[in-house]
Amino acid sequence: MTSQITIAGIEIKPGENKKIQLPVANLYTDTDMCIPVHIMRAKKPGPTLFVSAAVHGDELNGIEIIRRVMNKPGLKLTRGTLIAVPMVNVYGVLNQSRYLPDRRDLNRCFPGSPKGSLAARLAHTFLTEIVAYCDYGIDLHTGAIHRSNLPQIRANLKDPETLELAKAFGVPVLLNANLRDGSLRQAAVENDTRILLYEAGQALRFDEFSIRAGVKGVMNILSSLGMVRKRRQRKTSVEPFVANRSDWVRGNASGLVHEYAQLGAMVEAGDVLASIHSPMGDKLSEVTASRSGIVIGKQNIPLVQEGDAMFHIAYFGEDAVDVAENIEQLQEDLAIPPHDET
Ligand SMILES: [Zn+2]
Repeated sequence: MTSQITIAGIEIKPGENKKIQLPVANLYTDTDMCIPVHIMRAKKPGPTLFVSAAVHGDELNGIEIIRRVMNKPGLKLTRGTLIAVPMVNVYGVLNQSRYLPDRRDLNRCFPGSPKGSLAARLAHTFLTEIVAYCDYGIDLHTGAIHRSNLPQIRANLKDPETLELAKAFGVPVLLNANLRDGSLRQAAVENDTRILLYEAGQALRFDEFSIRAGVKGVMNILSSLGMVRKRRQRKTSVEPFVANRSDWVRGNASGLVHEYAQLGAMVEAGDVLASIHSPMGDKLSEVTASRSGIVIGKQNIPLVQEGDAMFHIAYFGEDAVDVAENIEQLQEDLAIPPHDET
């Protein structure tokens, strides 16, 4: 996008590798707050990609994904620039909270402004100091507290180049996601930055499968953009599928949950996903799938209030069996060998 990159007033030249603290609004405790940023530039020009995590401060998997990518032995950019931002919402990370201290959701506050609230200032700083330089971005998220997501990419798949990138990431489930007002994705699109949103695992936890799939995904994108040397293709590679649609199956009673459907499972119309029981042990109801699809998100807490979202099912039509097979393939590929210290 541009050959000159200056972040927090510090110029990063081609061939340089720098870690910078990007200042944002101070706290009323007179504490300076900074966003840690790691920039790697190859000598050769090429695309600029940012990888960000913890836009929601309690979503930690992405922080670990970035740590593993940036410290990968032998990681060498052959062209372009990689900007890693492991904690965008530093305030939220400190409070182990999705939100900012003013209870705002950063991902609804873009593009922000330099004179606005804390959230608006943070959004503005991130946009003008980081996103403005980038042709592409990968924003790493997880499910909310007590909710897990199967590794999946959400993006504007109607844009052919974004679709190609989404496929290159290497997870089986792709969801077309409409832009939300105030989201980082919307602001990035206006800057001509193509964005993938990676959703995997749950808030406040590390999930090894989600982390491994994320690290592999970021490396696949670097390779497909020609920013690292092309890796040898494995014999088996995971095939991506675009879901036609997805929706949540909700609790039809209030009580304790016995679940039967696991993340990544293929379910048929009428399959019992969970049963709901009273504290005295009576079975109150069964929660069933209304169409056949794949479980891509679920609640983990065994307590439900009638109407709560329990299972997120994605619909793939006739491809569902192939999607389930590819999910198994990915789980096998990324299985943790015994005594592996990662
Ligand atoms: Zn999130």
